[in-house]
Amino acid sequence: GSTIGILGGGQLGRMIAIAAAQLGYRTAIYAPEESGPAADVSPRWTRGSYDDVAALAAFADSVDVVTYEFENIDPAAVEILATHGLVRPGAQALRVAQDRLAEKRFVCDLGGLTAPFAPVEDLEDLEAAIAQVGSRAILKTNRMGYDGKGQARLNDPGDAVGAWNAIGRQSAILEGFVTFAEEFSVILVRGADGQVRFWDSAANVHVGGILDTSIVPAGPLIEGQVPAARALAQKIADALDYVGVLTCEFFASADGPVFNEMAPRVHNSGHGTIEGALTSQFENHVRAICGLPLGDTALAARRVEMCNLIGDDAHDWQAILSDPANHLHLYGKHEARPGRKMGHVTRLSL
Ligand code: ATP
Ligand code: MG
Ligand code: MG
Repeated sequence: GSTIGILGGGQLGRMIAIAAAQLGYRTAIYAPEESGPAADVSPRWTRGSYDDVAALAAFADSVDVVTYEFENIDPAAVEILATHGLVRPGAQALRVAQDRLAEKRFVCDLGGLTAPFAPVEDLEDLEAAIAQVGSRAILKTNRMGYDGKGQARLNDPGDAVGAWNAIGRQSAILEGFVTFAEEFSVILVRGADGQVRFWDSAANVHVGGILDTSIVPAGPLIEGQVPAARALAQKIADALDYVGVLTCEFFASADGPVFNEMAPRVHNSGHGTIEGALTSQFENHVRAICGLPLGDTALAARRVEMCNLIGDDAHDWQAILSDPANHLHLYGKHEARPGRKMGHVTRLSL
């Protein structure tokens, strides 16, 4: 059998590894930590830094294809990896998706609608950016942000200094605040032959900057905007010659779908596809990167509701399981810190 190498050993790696095992593949994890959620289901774990190109190359030589569940890896390192074997998705997808400024410029060039934005390298830039996009805005670090970390809200020009300090005075982007009614994601898989399939878009509800719930069907407002959002997502995937699962987040606004950000990987808002779709995002990611035909992404239920278990939420799993409609997923994390994703529950209605 072949071995899939996964950069990153968190819950996304764990769920990719489970899908890979079902298809008869072995998985090997490369991550800087000593262990993690993927260790329980993956027979090999290599501890190494994402900057250690020699170690990454040796890892690539030891597997048949490399993928990742964590996108903040140096694209130059990924390019070197690619000379040691197949890396899917490729370095260009990482380059675009890990830098908010590059990402928004890329999407605008493809004709997509984004929040108004301006680059910020210092306080002077920030004042100019506020003049350009308005003072109702969000300052975001260009790199490494997730779950709303590395962001500061501005409501008037006087908030500039506080926001600049709050994000640690680093390379950033100022985004005008988008007025939207709802949020949704488009998750697609693109095969090695360029074939694209989409899952049904979920309405995503965030609490405190963290995804809380994803519900399919998403309702009429979002459903009306899904075709345009899908067309943009496919353009992005084609332009990157993308292979694997790609996620694009959108705001449903009065002007149509506004692109927020992309993730070059399987996504939290797609966890409901494990039970709620004929083929899950994890299985189709494995199929795509291994050059296999893609599975059907159609809904397997009338309604699918996926709720994250964050921090202490995970402790009440007895109560969750007392409802037979609930599917419980726990990631094997030992310590329930506030804001930490411990697992999720998917509930299907026929
Ligand atoms: P993720 O965990 O999804 O990667 P993140 O840290 O990358 O999150 P974003 O997706 O950029 O953060 O923002 C988090 C949330 O903040 C969005 O889902 C949305 O609710 C809100 N938000 C972000 N940017 C804007 C904006 N320009 N206008 C209005 N709301 C926004
Ligand atoms: Mg993000
Ligand atoms: Mg986001």
